[in-house]
Amino acid sequence: MEPAAGISYFDSHCHLQDDRLLPDISGVLGRARNAGVRGMMCCGSCQRDWQIVHDIAVVNPQVVPSFGLHPWYLSERTPTWHEELVARLAENPAACVGEIGLDHALDKATFADQETALVRQLDIASRLARPVSIHCRRAFGRVIELLRLADGVFQGGIVHSYSGPPELVKTFEDLGLSISFSGSVTFPGSKRARASIAVVSPDRLCIETDSPDIVPFGCGASVNEPANILAVAMAAAEIRGVSVGEIAELTFKNASRIFCVKR
Ligand SMILES: [Zn+2]
Repeated sequence: MEPAAGISYFDSHCHLQDDRLLPDISGVLGRARNAGVRGMMCCGSCQRDWQIVHDIAVVNPQVVPSFGLHPWYLSERTPTWHEELVARLAENPAACVGEIGLDHALDKATFADQETALVRQLDIASRLARPVSIHCRRAFGRVIELLRLADGVFQGGIVHSYSGPPELVKTFEDLGLSISFSGSVTFPGSKRARASIAVVSPDRLCIETDSPDIVPFGCGASVNEPANILAVAMAAAEIRGVSVGEIAELTFKNASRIFCVKR
């Protein structure tokens, strides 16, 4: 698929540092450029990938770095993770905090640890005035409770690859967050994501690939990459009854406002 001339996309959540993308990073970034992707938010997930995220962003100004502990990798953290995260953010004034959050599809024994890590990272984000990228699976009620405790202090950000019910979209918006949708909106069976994307306020809508995961329906690859953002934009446009160009412009503007703040 060729991008229409002049259309710019912002991929609000991807993992360029992943082993499945890193070996061909120049190819991945080249195909993204050709597809019109002019901005990417690259989320670190654990201490061992923060340096790679940093290195990619340093030489690619279209990539905004983000550092955080993802709930899936909490067991790998070292006792100094907190100091290390603060140092990373201080060193990268443009960086955001993420990917952080709660995942209740994991073992219940990890829930307390997940909450501690999320609260501490929300606190860091608030103190350093950085936006957040939130992962939430089957834990929407609890994430909202924890965000409410931090309400008014943290600087917004996104709930990424939103899979919650449409009824909670407004709650997240009222907490100052934007809602980002991945390739899951391209799956005909994914009724909930499609119902949710229909009700997001225009100034709170973002799109993402979550590459290398969540290959959009019909893309035919096993590894996702930012160039596939067009498939997400097309599904968003179809569901919201607007043009792909409008979706691209809106989501580019929203993501730039959230992530590309001069500090
Ligand atoms: Zn992710």
